[in-house]
Amino acid sequence: MDGRRRRLWMSRLAWVFAIAAAPASCATMHGSGGGSADAVAVSYTPPGDPASDVVLAAATGGPGVMPTPRPASPGDPFRDALADAYKSFKSLGEGKNADYIPVLAKVDPGLYGLVLVTVRGAVYEVGAARDEFSIQSVSKPFTVARAIETAGPDAVNKRIGVNATGQKFNSILAIDLFKNIPSDEKHVIPAGNPLVNAGAIATVDLVPVPRGMDKWSVIMGNLEAFAGRKLTVNDEVYHSESETNTHNRAIVQLLKDYEVIEGDPMQALDLYTRQCSVSVSARDLAVMGATFANGGRNPITGVQVVSSQTAAKVLAVLSTAGLYETTGEWLYKVGVPAKSGVGGGIMAVVPGKFAIGTFSPPLDPAGNSVRGQRAIEAMVQKLGGNVFAAKPVGRAHETKAEASPPFGPPAPVTAIAGTN
Ligand code: GLN
Repeated sequence: MDGRRRRLWMSRLAWVFAIAAAPASCATMHGSGGGSADAVAVSYTPPGDPASDVVLAAATGGPGVMPTPRPASPGDPFRDALADAYKSFKSLGEGKNADYIPVLAKVDPGLYGLVLVTVRGAVYEVGAARDEFSIQSVSKPFTVARAIETAGPDAVNKRIGVNATGQKFNSILAIDLFKNIPSDEKHVIPAGNPLVNAGAIATVDLVPVPRGMDKWSVIMGNLEAFAGRKLTVNDEVYHSESETNTHNRAIVQLLKDYEVIEGDPMQALDLYTRQCSVSVSARDLAVMGATFANGGRNPITGVQVVSSQTAAKVLAVLSTAGLYETTGEWLYKVGVPAKSGVGGGIMAVVPGKFAIGTFSPPLDPAGNSVRGQRAIEAMVQKLGGNVFAAKPVGRAHETKAEASPPFGPPAPVTAIAGTN
């Protein structure tokens, strides 16, 4: 690496550790998970000081003064979208907590929180918005963001792949399918995609570590920079998964055999399991998503966590496998890149506008939170966030004279030129 790239690399890493010193965001509105469906109290926190253009300046604390949350006013479209979605799905009883990680089965299935963060840093939250749960697979996009940023987009594409697997998140079959259909000799991609277990563990193996640092600090510091606060590992979840992750152990041995994992496969798995056990809230997921929505810059702290090019690549990957084998249906119905985790969290991103974080533990058969999906769908529809949707802008087909043969006479040139 040349001197300039190395300096850039090191300065990017500086915030990762500086952020650890940042105070946790105010936790006054700690979610109860309860509340009557009729009296939906959505809280609103206005944006803090304008984000600094000096990207590293905010790393030690974000905006000078954290504004205080206050009740959001009816009539505010974000508030109304949250309140309606919360009310509509509060009593939805579908789905089941994950139980293949034993401790997850014990989480209260009634917990339900919704948070929306705009790219300007406004925060709307309702219900169990600050209750913590294990991030699980929602951690995957952040570590691959760091890998794209530091190892480069080509390295991630070549070692891991970015196409949809179309299979379950822990599919071994998918690994062998990719192994058997290499696009060329030098481009064998057995891991498949960074958002399924195989690819995510391979990403942990791949992510570069600067000299004098350890890999866990890079992974954790990165998650903290996205969240804009210090995070912790839930030891109970970490031990529960470590004792039972026999399927993931099979995956890493296969990836080692296929030379996708270059280091110690059990060490990569251990780091990945710890990464999945990090505690976050729906609010954290919304802030982390808003960092992607805001071109890689955390809208609360003002820290440029990854470049906007990296953020765009991660959102593209979310669109291939963010909700695993049901990602196609999700995009078809809702039209926003999103990532789910078996802890019950979902992060959905509307680039350039806002992100949503949801928490509700009962899952569908693919491992995606049922209420989270429904709430995001309703909010995105109401707020017009579908990234594929466009209002017609070009001139409407107004007069008969403009129709081309065989449906009408050729349009006069002047009528076509029109006003655009
Ligand atoms: N830690 C979980 C696993 O490896 C993550 C899966 C998920 O959230 N979909 O199985």
